[in-house]
Amino acid sequence: MADESTWRQCNICKTPIAYQAKYYVCSVSTCNRKRTGLIFCSMPCFDAHLPMMRHRDAWAEEERAPTREQALAAERAEQEQEAAEQRSPGSAGDAAAPVRRMASAPVDTSDPEVLVVVSKLKKFIKTTSGMNTSDTVFPVLSKHLRELSVAALRQAAAEGRKTVLDRDFIAVLRPGKDAG
Ligand SMILES: [Zn+2]
Ligand SMILES: [Zn+2]
Repeated sequence: MADESTWRQCNICKTPIAYQAKYYVCSVSTCNRKRTGLIFCSMPCFDAHLPMMRHRDAWAEEERAPTREQALAAERAEQEQEAAEQRSPGSAGDAAAPVRRMASAPVDTSDPEVLVVVSKLKKFIKTTSGMNTSDTVFPVLSKHLRELSVAALRQAAAEGRKTVLDRDFIAVLRPGKDAG
């Protein structure tokens, strides 16, 4: 059954999952342990395990099976893929750029890339309220996150730091107040 291109099998329907194929894992930690974790070939198979495991709150996370050459090579491939997907100039390149430069340069916060995990947020809204979530929500939230991030990194830069801290976001979110 398992030929050379098979990485593992779907835990529900036993469909072979090939190297570099898309698959799904469960958000619940008891289901997604690295070695013994459940993997699913499709959303229907993911849905099928929910009653079996009596989950109250779980969502599917999309994963990609590794190449044959171990995790390192797979990791690199994923990074390259991510880089190719977010071809937008600015996001990837500027992330490594010095904070000083980012703080003084005009920052384009209209970058259309979605920064939130769509499936997780949809799941949260669904399980909380039973409501669906329009896809038009995510660009709006992403824009908000970008604007918050820029404000926070400017705050960090103003204090001479090269790391954005939680308190930078807290300050941006609650001006004039502290966390406590
Ligand atoms: Zn399956
Ligand atoms: Zn699960």
